[in-house]
Amino acid sequence: MDISDNAVKIKERCKEKVHPNNRWGSFHPRQCHAKIWKHGYCKIHHPDTVRIRQEAKEKRWEEEKENNPILLLQKANKQIEILEAEIKKKDKMIKELEEGIEKHRDITLVYDSGIPEADAELYKLISK
Ligand SMILES: [Zn+2]
Repeated sequence: MDISDNAVKIKERCKEKVHPNNRWGSFHPRQCHAKIWKHGYCKIHHPDTVRIRQEAKEKRWEEEKENNPILLLQKANKQIEILEAEIKKKDKMIKELEEGIEKHRDITLVYDSGIPEADAELYKLISK
């Protein structure tokens, strides 16, 4: 095989640069070995195929995210936090209401015991 043969071969190959799957691959990209399918790209690297693959990947990721146990747990924990804050607020309201009832009861007791005393005083005055 001479140099011109090689040049033709490179021209027939997909123009995408790929990173070989070895330790230094990411530093030494090379031209894809696959044959041209459309617009200078092989079937794998054609922008249309790449876009479709990317969209499918994103869709899969979204679905995985929705069912991911860790994310579901985080969501549940957040909900629990909100509900616990709500319970705390309600507890505080109940405590305030109970204190209010207690105060009212005290006032009522004072009022009730005040009446017979007042009546007794009045009775004393009348019976003189
Ligand atoms: Zn390719």
